[in-house]
Amino acid sequence: MSTATVLVVNSGSSSIKYQLVDPVVGTAVASGIVERIGEDSATLKHTSGDTTVEREQPIGDHGEGLRAVLGLFEEVGPDLTSAGVVAVGHRVVHGGSVFSTPVLVDDDVVAQIDALSPLAPLHNPANVTGIRVARELLPDVPHVVVFDTAFFHGLPPASATYAIDRDVAREHGVRRYGFHGTSHHFVAHEAARVLDRHVEDLATIVLHLGNGASASAVLGGKAVDTSMGMTPLEGLVMGTRSGDLDPAVLIHLQRNAGMSVDDVDDLLNRRSGLKGLAGENDLRAIHQLVADGDEDARVALEVYAHRLKKYIGAYLAVLGRLDVLVFTAGVGENDDEVRAAACAGLEGLGIALDPERNAGRKKAPTIISADWSRTTVLVVPTNEELAIARQALEVTEGAGLSRDDADPAAVGHA
Ligand code: ADP
Repeated sequence: MSTATVLVVNSGSSSIKYQLVDPVVGTAVASGIVERIGEDSATLKHTSGDTTVEREQPIGDHGEGLRAVLGLFEEVGPDLTSAGVVAVGHRVVHGGSVFSTPVLVDDDVVAQIDALSPLAPLHNPANVTGIRVARELLPDVPHVVVFDTAFFHGLPPASATYAIDRDVAREHGVRRYGFHGTSHHFVAHEAARVLDRHVEDLATIVLHLGNGASASAVLGGKAVDTSMGMTPLEGLVMGTRSGDLDPAVLIHLQRNAGMSVDDVDDLLNRRSGLKGLAGENDLRAIHQLVADGDEDARVALEVYAHRLKKYIGAYLAVLGRLDVLVFTAGVGENDDEVRAAACAGLEGLGIALDPERNAGRKKAPTIISADWSRTTVLVVPTNEELAIARQALEVTEGAGLSRDDADPAAVGHA
């Protein structure tokens, strides 16, 4: 372990995920999750080295949750003071048009993130709560916010603009913001590093396929298009989200099926995607259903792969050429069948997998294309926590708040 660590916090509406990251060595020193905050009984899981502790206890709110986490650091380790925490890095989902880079948290920044809540009603309020309690409990370390939208802040107007009445769009912030930006940025750069190329020289497509899923087109290290839009609903087929849809479907369901705005929200965000098509959102369960002869699951896989293929083709056209295609996140790193299906038949576009290289789960960056493939296809495991930790460290060092200036003894919590 090097001398400086960053505590990375990801606050959801009823959960807190955290990692204590060594940003220089690139490893997680400790990690954990508090789930079901506010319910009858919450679960806590904390891992430090080889030790994992699991608990069930009522946790009323995020303040109590974070206090419990700090208690686990004291009890199980590592001790936060000797671990040299130089910053707390918070993942924030929506930075709107305001935030293009990670920033040091102050009261104004918290208020601005809160003001963006109408654009991300599920996420930003939870992020704000997490930041507030963390600042109260860890007042002596700088807090930095890293935005999921930031990498896409500079999208060209051609890809960021929806073709609707410009006044309505401007008044209500209706444009494409993009999400998973920390992962897309990290993976595009990591792919270049692995290939020993300069990211500035590359045209890259990144497919971040987790429970949520998004594609991005990256030219010279800058994002030029992405599949998620004003919210994380647009684009690819996801675990429970529909992705692209004729907007008139919403009008139809509200006008003719007696559905309310909340019903449609629930349908498209939680009862669609793989879950809606096949009853399961996890690809492993979908493959099992297919093996058992389930026709809906087979079609679900086809719809999933077909959408991926459409985005690969579209972004190849947007970029004008394709040097690197990268798969990442839970599905992208583990599911060789999805990777093969997404690339099947694309040889004419210069994309050809090597079946043996593609086979199996990938825990490290791996080239999976054939030697004769014009495009190099890679699997690159994403690491959003490490990316957040590194950005938080950069911001604190840039602000002159590096470890040399900090009093390590002051890292204790309130
Ligand atoms: P999140 O969006 O929640 O961060 P992850 O990136 O962890 O999601 O991806 C979770 C998804 O990855 C699961 O829902 C599942 O579909 C897929 N997945 C995980 N492991 C495997 C595996 N071994 N084979 C196929 N799919 C997998």
